[in-house]
Amino acid sequence: MSRKVLIDMIKLRSAMIEDSSRDLPEALFYPSLNINGLKTIRELATFRFTCRKCEDAPCISVCPADALEKDENGVVARYTNLCVSCKSCVTICPFGTMMTDFFKHHRNKDLLFDLKDEKEMGKFVKACPVGTVAITEENESEDKNIYSLNEKVLIKDYLYITEKQ
Ligand code: SF4
Ligand code: SF4
Repeated sequence: MSRKVLIDMIKLRSAMIEDSSRDLPEALFYPSLNINGLKTIRELATFRFTCRKCEDAPCISVCPADALEKDENGVVARYTNLCVSCKSCVTICPFGTMMTDFFKHHRNKDLLFDLKDEKEMGKFVKACPVGTVAITEENESEDKNIYSLNEKVLIKDYLYITEKQ
């Protein structure tokens, strides 16, 4: 069975509220899967699972740099090469979806971990706030609020489901 990283976004948000000055470790894949520049797993997971995918997406209309757009699945994506880190999208989002530290241009290299490498996976888990990230052989499970981001990463979060869905 393949080992995966399980990131508990619910606990991670609480950990950030408890200590907002803390620089969180970030999981990435090298070479980056994102043609638009370096993007963290946490940002990808937030837009995919935490975001409520507003129909009129105020985050997109407020962005002065046209850096946000929805993909074919309605998932918001940020063009890191256009984003000027003004954080207007963070302020206007009625659901507090985004964490302000997504928009840092420079990150501490010692806190970046490549999840393609098994050793880095372990180091990433150790570097994260206790109980927020784990190595697992579990699979996606709606009952446990666990969803697959990709072949190496599971995300635990509360999905917003509308009556229509
Ligand atoms: S932080 Fe970036 S993505 Fe958000 S509104 Fe500003 S330029 Fe747009
Ligand atoms: S405003 Fe917030 S919840 Fe709505 S689409 Fe944008 S990020 Fe998602």
